[in-house]
Amino acid sequence: MFGEAGLRKKCRDVEVFDDKLWVLIDDMRETMDRFGGVGLAAPQLGILRRVIVIEDDDLLHEFVNPVITFMKGKQREIEGCLSSPGEWGYVNRPAKIKIKAHNRYGKEFETEADGVFAIAICHEVDHLNGIIFTDIADEMVDDEEELEKAKRARNRRRKKKRKV
Ligand SMILES: [Zn+2]
Repeated sequence: MFGEAGLRKKCRDVEVFDDKLWVLIDDMRETMDRFGGVGLAAPQLGILRRVIVIEDDDLLHEFVNPVITFMKGKQREIEGCLSSPGEWGYVNRPAKIKIKAHNRYGKEFETEADGVFAIAICHEVDHLNGIIFTDIADEMVDDEEELEKAKRARNRRRKKKRKV
């Protein structure tokens, strides 16, 4: 939860890709699922290691030691965080990114992301560096009606992307 010291620390790289890591990743997937999030970072469970999981298009992605290697364009979308239920705000993010990471077995891979997937990756990588979205939001949204409107607009853009 916001306010806990662990969320302000810079996390360390994973060096050993063993069953301890797999249990952590499985825990993270389960927690994200249970709370209906689109992403989760290890420090949100109090583990200061560079691991994130993201759900996109009903697919679960695992990134160990993720590094964003390329950013292009801009998008501004409403964001929230499982560590701070009820807080929402607009954040500027790159429209497109490339990311390098390891899978849970230690194999390196590179992938591209855009739209909400890119936002989720940026949000979770920020967590690994002790940054939370309220630090960089340019506008927080408290008004219930405005919030619902913003979420609907975001989901519409998400669905449109899904059809392509
Ligand atoms: Zn978060």
